[in-house]
Amino acid sequence: MAANKSLLILPGDGIGPEGMAEVRKVINWMDKRRAVTFDVAEDLVGGASYDKHGVPITDKVMESALSRACVLFGAVGGPTYDKLPFDKRPERALLRLRKDMDLFANLRPAVCFEALVEASSLKPELVAGLDIMIVRELTGGVYFGTPRGIETLPDGQRRGVNTQVYTTSEIHRVAAVAFELARKRRNKVTSLEKNNVMESGILWKEEVTKLHAEKYSDVQLEHMLADNGAMQLVRNPKQFDVMVTDNLFGDMLSDEAAMLTGSLGMLPSASLGAPDATGRRLAMYEPIHGSAPDIAGKGVANPIASLMSFAMALRYSFDLQDDADLVEKGIKNVLAAGYRTPDIMQPGKTKVGTVQMGELLIKELDKLAA
Ligand code: NAD
Repeated sequence: MAANKSLLILPGDGIGPEGMAEVRKVINWMDKRRAVTFDVAEDLVGGASYDKHGVPITDKVMESALSRACVLFGAVGGPTYDKLPFDKRPERALLRLRKDMDLFANLRPAVCFEALVEASSLKPELVAGLDIMIVRELTGGVYFGTPRGIETLPDGQRRGVNTQVYTTSEIHRVAAVAFELARKRRNKVTSLEKNNVMESGILWKEEVTKLHAEKYSDVQLEHMLADNGAMQLVRNPKQFDVMVTDNLFGDMLSDEAAMLTGSLGMLPSASLGAPDATGRRLAMYEPIHGSAPDIAGKGVANPIASLMSFAMALRYSFDLQDDADLVEKGIKNVLAAGYRTPDIMQPGKTKVGTVQMGELLIKELDKLAA
């Protein structure tokens, strides 16, 4: 068990604070019922930070993020901030956190809750029991490679350039995360690239193969072209366990996988940095949805993505597997009992708001822990 249980909560804007308030209830419950006490700090980020300090994240908050075991991030942004210059925009806070904490591995689980199979765009039998983990490289590749830019050519045409670039160490560190995750799951990794048309894809495949042979030969490894992976995700998603891929393909494939499971309000994510000499990894956990200004303040946001993000923090930053299982089981049971926030409402089910959903989870946790 990790000795350092320090958490920084950055609720942010819109529905961010609404989801995080429900996470707080679970943290308090764990303190009382499981004797697991977290050292929790909370601060401003995004538009909320801009309103008070004139910047989307202060240096003091950044220092706090770097010193704590992990960050729980709500969501940022909103129409009032849309006209700000780029460096003052709420989303800049997210980019700075990712960059300064060097969070290179983005973990996006796509789990289909039994109670919600009907909400998927695929047939129930294809998604029932689905449990995939997509590991996306987050700090390299074509989004960051140079040269980049738009230039005007002598003949007056314009030319846009981005560069896909990866080094051995960038590939190894993200692939290692995938192999280690697979060992705790169903022991299979699918690595995706485009080695048929890209040199960076050839390197990716060779280096993943090399690392596998050196350190992870106990894990089943398969290679797949990323475009085939996109097709296989809708054809037969349950063939996958852990998928690892670069920044660009990961961006697409993780959004595609998200839709297999139904709602944006259900999906968590984790972003991990490299382990230091003591094995400590910086990490940030956040729902994949944004600040949802259209429903903010109405008490109807689905808090499950935030709660599932906290469960990921329990699992990956604090090594509290049983507690993570408990929170996930609690959520499953509340859904199975027929409670739904409006975004996942189905005929014959009971509609509840954000706070009620959190309270139902606490009641369920009481039952499970009794
Ligand atoms: P969004 O994810 O905020 O909302 C998209 C749609 O999904 C909306 O209709 C919203 O009501 C619904 N939705 C999202 N989360 C929900 C939940 N938990 N429960 C119920 N319904 C939910 O995306 P958007 O509307 O494109 O962006 C809104 C703002 O959020 C923008 O300012 C954008 O820049 C920002 N944003 C922030 C993040 C982040 O902080 N990580 C991510 C995406 C967008």
